[in-house]
Amino acid sequence: MSQSIEGLQKRFDEDFAAITDMDTWKSVRDKFLAREGGIITTGMKRLRELPKEERPVFGQAMNRLRSSVEKQLQERYAELKKAAITGGQRHLDVTRPGFPYALGSAHPIKRLQADIEQILVNMGFRLFDLPEVERDYYNFEALNMPPNHPARDEQDTFYFDDTMLLRTHCTSVDVHAMEGLRPPIRAASTGKVYRRDPFDATHSPMFYQVDVVVIDEGITMGDMKGMLEVFLKQVFHSDIKMRLRPGFFPFVEPGAEVDISCIFCNGAGCPTCKQSGWIEILGAGMCHPKVLRMSGIDDSRYTGFAWGMGIDRVPMLKYGVEDIRLLFDNDLRFLEQF
Ligand SMILES: [Zn+2]
Repeated sequence: MSQSIEGLQKRFDEDFAAITDMDTWKSVRDKFLAREGGIITTGMKRLRELPKEERPVFGQAMNRLRSSVEKQLQERYAELKKAAITGGQRHLDVTRPGFPYALGSAHPIKRLQADIEQILVNMGFRLFDLPEVERDYYNFEALNMPPNHPARDEQDTFYFDDTMLLRTHCTSVDVHAMEGLRPPIRAASTGKVYRRDPFDATHSPMFYQVDVVVIDEGITMGDMKGMLEVFLKQVFHSDIKMRLRPGFFPFVEPGAEVDISCIFCNGAGCPTCKQSGWIEILGAGMCHPKVLRMSGIDDSRYTGFAWGMGIDRVPMLKYGVEDIRLLFDNDLRFLEQF
């Protein structure tokens, strides 16, 4: 009995010494340890044929043998694996295809922001890069919204203190441009604005705007309408119609809400335009004389117009995005579609 175990050990040692690679390693492992027909496995089964008193000794010896065989094979496996890796480096195949890296693309809002800026630059506008942390004066006061003005309530504001806030619109460009430039002025600014709105399908505490101001002698609402029509046709498409409705904004007089014909039904009526055929797209108006005066523009000589539009609204309309959060969630499955 002990001789047969010694014989097994000897056979294993010989085979083990002959292992040179993973293939020979596997064949040795299967030869001795395979569940069906492995030499050691089969030897264990012989236990039942032995006389009862010999079984414990033989069983223990076979278990020791199996453990040592398993351990040796494991160690050899680790060695072979290591050799395979370092060997692989020596035989690096430079003609193999590389790993596919996902290429990024511009975010739909950023792309639109750039398009809008380009349209405005082509129209002769000067772009202002303005701070998101703004003085109350530029965001409200100089735009005819003194402290306690009711219109401030409509723009729930993030305040730092009494004088500093996160801008609630890009309309501050009106004041910065009038302070920094002499007429004729054509200035525009785009960027993020902040309001204490909930984050749901139609609201976001942060969104994008574009604001425009034009000041010169003899500027009329006709100039504003013409400029808006050219602009909106370039942003959407050349077939859209535009209309103005009376609207109120403290910094303009008269003010107008600007609608475009529905881009989905061309004015026939559909759920997106609530069957009206029109979609409200921006707010505009003639600069309030008080605003001109506050920024040092002679309102007896100059007039001007200003308008502002939400940039996020455009991809939502153009691509039928129903939830504004999708634009800010950075989910690649969504963004890859643009
Ligand atoms: Zn419609």
